[in-house]
Amino acid sequence: MNRVSILGVQFDAISKSEAVARAMACLREGKKGYVVTPNSEIVYMARSDAGLKKLLNGAALVLPDGIGVVHAAKILKKPLKEKVAGIEFAASLMEAMAKEGRSVFLFGAKPGVAEKAAAALQASYPGLAVTGCRDGYFQDDAQAVRDINAAGHSDVILVCLGAPKQERFIAAHIDELDGTLLCGLGGSLDVYAGVVERAPAFYVNHGLEWFYRLKKEPWRAKRMTALPKFLLTVVKSKVTGEDK
Ligand code: UDP
Repeated sequence: MNRVSILGVQFDAISKSEAVARAMACLREGKKGYVVTPNSEIVYMARSDAGLKKLLNGAALVLPDGIGVVHAAKILKKPLKEKVAGIEFAASLMEAMAKEGRSVFLFGAKPGVAEKAAAALQASYPGLAVTGCRDGYFQDDAQAVRDINAAGHSDVILVCLGAPKQERFIAAHIDELDGTLLCGLGGSLDVYAGVVERAPAFYVNHGLEWFYRLKKEPWRAKRMTALPKFLLTVVKSKVTGEDK
């Protein structure tokens, strides 16, 4: 397996279609695992959080979600094949799953959003079975796990609680959750449901999705200062060897 280390987070150097093929192979084999899609903020966070780093690296697929990670790989001269946005990976996965009549549970976002996302996904990918939905606002993890499992077995469970909450939830409950592949996917349900718009193609294609998001959600500005800090740390890691 070709993995590229960025500040110790081991990314898969694969294209979106290869990632979907790998995920489908896991489903056919019934091999339990999880998928993470870290962006530069999460990689930076994992640098000082060994537990988070370990659980990211334990994923069956570690996909580079974000242009910052792709730039970092170029700086380190260990290029990744392409940016694989979690939201696009999951949409392609749903398309492939629909062809085999496979099932998905949608977990996360505000009440009512997952149901809207389910309707939209089933309209786009006829044949996709949605086992159930559950919003992402809960007091008790155990209750959330029971609610998800009450739907029976799901081939895939989309866990959309934002990072790193969703990764921590997956790691803590993977053994109990009745799903084969658990995917941490941030705000994807909001986009599938049409509650939040994705950036227009121009921004996505030019690596400027962050800029569009900043215009729409200016309160994210503080979080986004993480990107220059992240790239600077990557440059330094070439000297210190932290990139290994
Ligand atoms: N969310 C949730 N439970 C929480 C906190 C957040 O379900 O306790 C949802 C929130 O409604 C949104 C998603 O998680 O749908 C986070 O989206 P965001 O784009 O902020 O996450 P990112 O992709 O940046 O990690």
